[in-house]
Amino acid sequence: MLKKLLLLVLVNISISGVSQENITLTYTGNMGVYLSDGDSSVLIDGLHTKYGDDYLFPTKKLINRIHAELQPNLILFTHRHGDHFSIQLSKDYLISNKKAFLFGAHQITKNFDDFKNRIFTIATKDYKKQTTTQGNIKITGLKINHAGKRHINIENVGYIITLSKRRILHVGDTNWMREINLFDQLQLQNENINIAVLPYWMLMDDNAEALIKKHINPKQIVATHISPRIKEKELQSLKNRYPAVHFLTKLEEQIQL
Ligand SMILES: [Zn+2]
Repeated sequence: MLKKLLLLVLVNISISGVSQENITLTYTGNMGVYLSDGDSSVLIDGLHTKYGDDYLFPTKKLINRIHAELQPNLILFTHRHGDHFSIQLSKDYLISNKKAFLFGAHQITKNFDDFKNRIFTIATKDYKKQTTTQGNIKITGLKINHAGKRHINIENVGYIITLSKRRILHVGDTNWMREINLFDQLQLQNENINIAVLPYWMLMDDNAEALIKKHINPKQIVATHISPRIKEKELQSLKNRYPAVHFLTKLEEQIQL
């Protein structure tokens, strides 16, 4: 009897130990991810509207679910492009969840003067990492240049989220950008990244495996920004090249991390 009881206690301890560290990632379209440990939660690039046929966006039903059920404590944005961010949806959310905070570069936060004490601006003058703590969540923001010459004036920021001892990196719309030695300047390789959320084109580089290992060194990779119109053959060849990578293509699909 005593043995049985002891076994039961041990099993319970190990189950609660596991569940405390479990993180769920829920896909919300394009580069949108909702991260939750069941207690605290963050939504990154999760509030935007239809931008074109190549960008998956959260439906009205999913937006309602974000308001009523998911209720992220923090809403973070990498940059102002319409496939990542909507001013109106963000204001609606800050009004509906009075405890929520918003993070972004100045091009984002300048739109929220009415919510002043609930807004954090990530500076983009250099690559310095800027860290804040909100409840159980640690948020580090840093400048990461937007890919493409025509977007040179877009302030793109990346985030490292620490949630239940996991470190999740989200880089926004960037690329390897060797012409400015971007990833040498970011210094992410010693940040103990568990999960890297990347736009899928960063995986298409001929040297992607080596670049990821050298500059980010994550335990897991989540690929996003995949067009709903991508050719099945192209997606399949990427999946074949990267059998361990999670390729997100369906709204509300979940990964346990
Ligand atoms: Zn963009």
